[in-house]
Amino acid sequence: MQETSARIVIIGGGPAGYSAAIYAARAGLAPVCIEGFSSGGQVTRSAEIHNFPGFPAGVAGADLSDLIRTQAHGFGAQFVSADVQSVDLSGTPFVIDTGDHRYLADSLVIATGASPRQLGLPGEDDLVGRGVCFCAICDGPFFAGQRVAVIGGGDAAVEEALALKEIAASVTLIHRRREFRANASLRAALDRATDLTVLTPHVVTEILHDDLGVTGLRLRNPEDEQLTDLGVDGVFITIGHVPASELFTPWLRADHGGFLVTEPNGTATNVPGVFAAGDVADPRYRQAITAAASGCAAAIDAERWLASRRGETAVPLDSVAQELSGTRGAA
Ligand code: NAP
Repeated sequence: MQETSARIVIIGGGPAGYSAAIYAARAGLAPVCIEGFSSGGQVTRSAEIHNFPGFPAGVAGADLSDLIRTQAHGFGAQFVSADVQSVDLSGTPFVIDTGDHRYLADSLVIATGASPRQLGLPGEDDLVGRGVCFCAICDGPFFAGQRVAVIGGGDAAVEEALALKEIAASVTLIHRRREFRANASLRAALDRATDLTVLTPHVVTEILHDDLGVTGLRLRNPEDEQLTDLGVDGVFITIGHVPASELFTPWLRADHGGFLVTEPNGTATNVPGVFAAGDVADPRYRQAITAAASGCAAAIDAERWLASRRGETAVPLDSVAQELSGTRGAA
């Protein structure tokens, strides 16, 4: 198997990984960015992004990702189209295996992202961008004056439903149980919201659609097995996220949802030299801009760690040399 050594390897091809690549390349670390086969990350699922600073007219998610990648490439970052099969983080150099190639890295930035949990219904994937959405902040404005449903019973679902009622003509929050998992203050806000319909307990069994996109939802009440159809133009599926952290959790601490845990206000993981950026370590914000910012932070943290390690290595070597010369002197 072929081997490549690198000062820094970045795993992940989205705004976090590409931003880390820009900073690492400009720091002279010659980063290798393993971006997967479908580069670009979750952001490429957003047809248009209007909240990324610097793009007042909006930008297609795929174009945004491509622009950040092009910028990193311009500074000398190397990109590898491959999926990582396994890693060994038991010591440096960290070993990253893509099946036919092994990378030996002095430092590592993990920016593998998270994907929205899906209902697993037929057609759900095909309807993304045609009525099926996973982020009200990103896509809510496309539904101004239209009918939307939000699925889920956690903090995110209630927050999204409350936010969408300021934009959409009607909002229906649908949850599979009568009890909401969302925190007390959000539940209170939900109780106070008069212009929002709550349907519980209801399970979505089908996303109804025509050639243009979503037209409604078929719902089943698990208590009496009654089926009802609800006409909507869009559905926001807000049932949690699945971070792509599985490869790393044998070594790295993760929270109960699998999100990698980093030091407070930083990107260092529990393994020195391994940093995490973007959605894989962010159960809270999950925006392209916060992912890009944490990618930048991870590259800076890695650069400083590499520099400090050179310093740490010098100290013991110096003291060994001193000891040796002292020994010689005494002999
Ligand atoms: P979450 O708390 O895990 O809630 C997921 C919701 O989706 C649950 O109500 C769950 O139902 C439902 N669900 C899961 N799988 C489903 C399926 N297959 N079909 C239908 N419904 C399904 O996720 P989250 O709301 O995204 O929040 C994630 C974390 O971020 C939480 O720790 C949350 O507190 C935090 N967060 C905080 C804030 C805030 O503080 N303002 C805002 C957003 C998120 P069940 O209840 O029946 O399991």
